[in-house]
Amino acid sequence: AKVEAGWKLDNSYSRLPQVFFSKQNPTAVSTPELAVLNEPLAAELGLNVRELRQETGVAVFAGNRIPEGAMPLAQAYAGHQFGYFTMLGDGRALLLGEQITPAGQRVDIQLKGSGRTSYSRRGDGRAALGPMLREYIISEAMYALGIPTTRSLAVVATGEPVIRETVLPGAVLTRVAASHLRVGTFQYAANRGSTDELRALADYALKRHFPDVKAEGRERYLVLLREVIKRQARLIAQWQRVGFIHGVMNTDNMAISGETIDYGPCAFMDAYSPATVFSSIDTHGRYAYGNQPGIGAWNVTRFAEALLPLLHEDEEEAVKLAEDTIGEYNELYRGSWLVGMRAKLGLSNEEPEDEHLIGDLLQWMEKNRADFTNTFRSLTLGLTEDSSLVQSPEFVRWKERWQARLGRQQSTEDAVRQLMRSCNPSVIPRNHRVEAALEAAVEHGDYSVMERLLAVLAAPYAYTPEQEEYSAPPEPSSCAYQTFCG
Ligand code: AMP
Ligand code: MG
Ligand code: MG
Repeated sequence: AKVEAGWKLDNSYSRLPQVFFSKQNPTAVSTPELAVLNEPLAAELGLNVRELRQETGVAVFAGNRIPEGAMPLAQAYAGHQFGYFTMLGDGRALLLGEQITPAGQRVDIQLKGSGRTSYSRRGDGRAALGPMLREYIISEAMYALGIPTTRSLAVVATGEPVIRETVLPGAVLTRVAASHLRVGTFQYAANRGSTDELRALADYALKRHFPDVKAEGRERYLVLLREVIKRQARLIAQWQRVGFIHGVMNTDNMAISGETIDYGPCAFMDAYSPATVFSSIDTHGRYAYGNQPGIGAWNVTRFAEALLPLLHEDEEEAVKLAEDTIGEYNELYRGSWLVGMRAKLGLSNEEPEDEHLIGDLLQWMEKNRADFTNTFRSLTLGLTEDSSLVQSPEFVRWKERWQARLGRQQSTEDAVRQLMRSCNPSVIPRNHRVEAALEAAVEHGDYSVMERLLAVLAAPYAYTPEQEEYSAPPEPSSCAYQTFCG
């Protein structure tokens, strides 16, 4: 077979029982134009950038051409949306297959916005350019921050309108993921009531994500549960560390791989407040910043429920096993969170009082509406003397405690700064910056603002003048920022 642009696709997912997908080709679009291509990622995937940029290469990203080896399909899944169970599935996305990378990894290549599928319900199967560029920017920022995430390979403008509240330009995003297996995929299987189908899915997940698991028989599924819990706990601790608010932590948006997935109404917090919500549809604040760790626990509990038939033949025994394992989540989360927060304060050893020291800083930040990222950035730079706020007696007292605490560890000042720099981003994708980039691109076809932003966000732990320029929080007028689904 002819190898084009380096595509080397297989579709192992399609070898699952037929109920897990429905075959579907993308719907061709009229005048595709490449908006952005992730060249470093393309190279990592073994793809030829020059060929990807040619008409035939862009046609693949548009869904107008199916590369050799691809087998486009929409995945079936279910999910709890804001607490309510629903049957779902890819309504506007298609899995082309899995690219086998030069390093021998297997990653999903998914088109998002590629037309209707059998799971589209009333949706049009399409996506708007703004939200797809937004996913591109934020997912790549997350990657650079060192947080597990799906990646964005390309965005193509379709040349076709999509109708939302207004008429918007359409686009297709090419998403790269360790897999698109979700908690909701397991809920879908469990809801159908076939243990064989459920087992096939669990075996597939184990093979795909935990190939080193040695356990046998039913023990394997307990290991699967434990590993997924571990990855979720770690992931959410990482979100908290950088002030990332996912916005729609429905169980269909929680990947088994432990990657951040589905960048809809997500955003980064400016002023620290656990109650922060950006999503216009999250009216009750279910997915507020401070609720994310608890929702993670709720979601892995749904995962455990779905796995019950595999854990033990006796249901009561299965429930007991599941409960014991879920019980590990809180400790795992707290442990990961503490590791991250200690590093943010430059603490290289452990003291029992550390949690109070961290908690008191957060409380001070909340009371004073201090910017989350920049407070830690200032502590890292040692610039806290600059602002009148941080000369308040309360903060000065906290800082003295912190300094004393630093004095009780062995690290040199240099080592402390290094540690803090490795954990405190100098820049995050600030909402006003992201909006400015999107406006220039979508309204004026000017991608230079976005390209500059992407370059800065690619080095979030660099403390250079470039980064400095992008670290400013928004003007108060743009504070009541709201995100919408695209
Ligand atoms: P999300 O809120 O992005 O996680 O999506 C929830 C469900 O709605 C998924 O099954 C999506 O595939 C589906 N969906 C979202 N937007 C559309 C659309 N424009 N057309 C069809 N299905 C959609
Ligand atoms: Mg989703
Ligand atoms: Mg979405």
